[in-house]
Amino acid sequence: MPPNRITNDKVQNFLARNTVPLSLSNLPAGQTSCPICRNTYAEVDRHYVPPLMDPDVPEWAVQVVRCGDCNHIVGRRCIERCIRAGEPWSHMCPMCRHEWFVPPHSTRTDIIARLRMALTVLAYTQRDTTELQAALDHVEELLREIENSLLDRRYI
Ligand SMILES: [Zn+2]
Ligand SMILES: [Zn+2]
Repeated sequence: MPPNRITNDKVQNFLARNTVPLSLSNLPAGQTSCPICRNTYAEVDRHYVPPLMDPDVPEWAVQVVRCGDCNHIVGRRCIERCIRAGEPWSHMCPMCRHEWFVPPHSTRTDIIARLRMALTVLAYTQRDTTELQAALDHVEELLREIENSLLDRRYI
């Protein structure tokens, strides 16, 4: 089992509660294709029963909702594929690196990699107070996790 595997329940809950399908007429200008696979979005299939998606069916757009600052629009198949991949980045938005899930098994190495990523995001953050504060809060949270993992014998 990959170390960062997110449980099926969590994946299903996230897809049901934190993504909404967008029909073609509701797509913002310039966002008519999936940022992950680059394929042009298809119309939403209203008869579709989540979460399984037939690999031959063209994917439609879903928007991430109720997830802090992340409101990204990605393909329905690609978002599920990312979350189920069990990779160190599987709990994050591939566009903005916002953490959709708490990573299941953070090791010190993972935390440090996430901290580096957060610092990179911070470096490119517009100097808007809200956005900057959110980025700083994230870094602070990661530093706390490092502190905790240093106190945890499992990682020494
Ligand atoms: Zn895609
Ligand atoms: Zn995002």
